[in-house]
Amino acid sequence: MPAFQTVRGMRDLLGEEAQAFTNIISKAHETATLYGYKEVITPVVEPLELLSAKSGEEIRQRMFIFKDLGERQVALRPEFTASIARLVTTALKNEPKPLRLFSVGSVYRYDEPQRGRYREFWQSNFELMGSARPEADAEIILLTNNLLKSLGLQGYAFKIGHIGVIRGILTQEGVEEKTQNAILQRMDKKEFEEAFKLAPTEHCRSMLEGLLQLKCDNCFETVEKIKAYVANYEKAKTAAENLGEILKLVMESGCPIQTVEPAFARGLEYYTGMIFEIYISELDIALGGGGRYDRLIELFGGESTPAVGCAHGIDRIALALQTQKATLAAAHGKRVLVLAVNDALKVEALKIAQMLRSKGVVVEFEIMGRKMGKALEDADKRQVDFAVIVGERELKEGSVMLKNLVNREQATVPLKELAEKIKS
Ligand code: AMP
Repeated sequence: MPAFQTVRGMRDLLGEEAQAFTNIISKAHETATLYGYKEVITPVVEPLELLSAKSGEEIRQRMFIFKDLGERQVALRPEFTASIARLVTTALKNEPKPLRLFSVGSVYRYDEPQRGRYREFWQSNFELMGSARPEADAEIILLTNNLLKSLGLQGYAFKIGHIGVIRGILTQEGVEEKTQNAILQRMDKKEFEEAFKLAPTEHCRSMLEGLLQLKCDNCFETVEKIKAYVANYEKAKTAAENLGEILKLVMESGCPIQTVEPAFARGLEYYTGMIFEIYISELDIALGGGGRYDRLIELFGGESTPAVGCAHGIDRIALALQTQKATLAAAHGKRVLVLAVNDALKVEALKIAQMLRSKGVVVEFEIMGRKMGKALEDADKRQVDFAVIVGERELKEGSVMLKNLVNREQATVPLKELAEKIKS
């Protein structure tokens, strides 16, 4: 017998990895409880027709599809929203709105396996049905923030856009829905050239291209620029105003920095409004995402029900936490001496030592009043890795001298980059 392996793209989770999953899942349950979301457990196998109805070409092509022994066309769920929409149009049809639903479990997509991309992966999924108001969009973003914060994830950021801006332009330019979907799918993959080629007129194409130029550092400014840009497109303008309202609610509730991306699209076809994704600088894959889908329930034969939801990628959040823990451990392994070139700079040097410690760097401060040469000699003997030398000239430019005591190299480093430089 050969030694059996897992199927490509599927993983065993053992020891710490399994524990990390359990921890994230339990925090997702806590978040659901705190925000009043009730858990629903739906089947992994669903009718193909249900799953392919509105998920979009991208996901349709990557589903695990098979016939069961009763000749039914079925598939493994590639996401939760279709199952939840089925519930809302059947068993939960008469439940009062708003309806807050939570699920967690494995989903399946025939993706190309790589770090953070698997064919079986786990999601925690939140859906809020029955409100078209910006408060509902904000709630989904804020509960995502709550989950990530409770897990101790550092430096994550939300990227927000509005599918209504792009669809608003395309509809007014007379682009039919099928072509709109094809354009959005390419934009989601950042294949902008390919996407814009599908625009039926030169004017439509240049309108789409122009969206790429609107992004700036301040997200409220970006929204204002979008509003001005689509002033003659009624629906797109309303969408931009809606984005502004959501952003205000989210930011004023203390959520971390947002980037507004005017040309941001997502693969799932059913989105109609705000869309978002979460990133950290250490990984270039989204840790989660979601958005508004006001027409799905109606399409599934239910009453017209506005809805907004999100899915958090548990595998990727686990990977992100592990990556950050490893960086921290690496930083802990390094020893740093902070010293001022003269007494007048002592206070500034102390502040820098505190700043580094707050970022997880192990710092020793020069407390013996020794001259620089002596202090460095001693640090060398004690196998300290770096000396941070605080001098007047560098400090004026917001920098310090970082001396690597192992290879003797030294360089002026801006304070903003100092911790990262030491950790790397
Ligand atoms: P989506 O359902 O496409 O909105 O995806 C929601 C989240 O699921 C993403 O932001 C990822 O964190 C995660 N995800 C999507 N595809 C994969 C995959 N192939 N492997 C692991 N996680 C994934």
